[in-house]
Amino acid sequence: MEQLVIIGTGCAGLTAAIYAARSNLSPLVLTGTQPGGLLTTTSIVENYPGFPEGVDGCELMTRMQRQAERFGARVQLLRVVEAADFSKNPFVLTVDGEKVETKTVIIATGASHRHLGLEGERLLEKKGVTYCATCDGAWPIFRNQPLVVVGGGDSACEEALFLTRFGSQIHLVHRRDSLRASKIMSARVLAHPKIKPVWDSVVTEILDPALKKVTGVRLLNLKTGAGTLLPCAGVFVAIGHAPNTRLFKGVLDLDENGYIIHKRGAATNIPGVFVAGDCADHVYRQAITAAGSGCAAAIEAERYLEL
Ligand code: NAP
Repeated sequence: MEQLVIIGTGCAGLTAAIYAARSNLSPLVLTGTQPGGLLTTTSIVENYPGFPEGVDGCELMTRMQRQAERFGARVQLLRVVEAADFSKNPFVLTVDGEKVETKTVIIATGASHRHLGLEGERLLEKKGVTYCATCDGAWPIFRNQPLVVVGGGDSACEEALFLTRFGSQIHLVHRRDSLRASKIMSARVLAHPKIKPVWDSVVTEILDPALKKVTGVRLLNLKTGAGTLLPCAGVFVAIGHAPNTRLFKGVLDLDENGYIIHKRGAATNIPGVFVAGDCADHVYRQAITAAGSGCAAAIEAERYLEL
């Protein structure tokens, strides 16, 4: 019987693990398919306190894991929860076919990249369409080629700036005429000579699935209705995230967008089940707020166990 199982190892899950481990709960921490979470797909994190020069996303997550393990967290790599039964306590999780009983659970499953929903996007994924410039931007097919980034938030700005190292020109396609990104990121993007914003426009088609590679995108200007063809060798989709909560549909209260509804900080509608990070946060969605909510969830779990 486990005292506490933590599902997910982004900032939220690993911070919860550090706090729970230091409370002698010896938490079982399941990484799922993306150990370290979304920060491992970013380059330099510049807004995490304590790192004035910035810190590599993978390094930050590796350090958090080491910190949690130092105090007794049991991190199990690539173990995936397939089902959750919260109908009675102890709760039962099915993990890679095995039943795990636990008195408390912290859900920190994070969020995944949102898709445009185009057929060409699906057919050309990993053949020129990607969701992570840091992971894929250095591919030879993108070198000295025009590239397209879709989106207007911090992620899109970050992707565009990163890709200036490789592409000949970066077209930032955004559906409005101003960026949603933070002021500092927007200013950097708009001042960069290699980045060209394409305002008020959406991608309607990604070409060319028949050639099994990206040759261009068709754009629609939402203000003028004009359609254009923009040649490019790669499409980087950065249009936000959707919470990883499919497993909990019908099990926990979710809002209309799939975020887990929480009250009094980390509590869900089931006593003993707590939530932290991007799977419950559609407002702040920052590494540091995820870490803070992981801390809160661990404190709540500890208090619940003491009842
Ligand atoms: P986001 O802030 O939600 O921005 C998503 C962008 O994609 C928006 O500009 C949105 O347009 C656009 N979009 C959404 N759906 C679309 C669609 N179907 N077609 C075309 N465009 C679409 O997401 P994010 O950039 O991934 O950032 C998420 C959070 O992480 C934010 O809180 C951000 O501050 C944080 N973050 C921070 C950093 C950093 O500080 N360095 C880096 C990355 C992310 P509209 O603007 O019209 O809604």
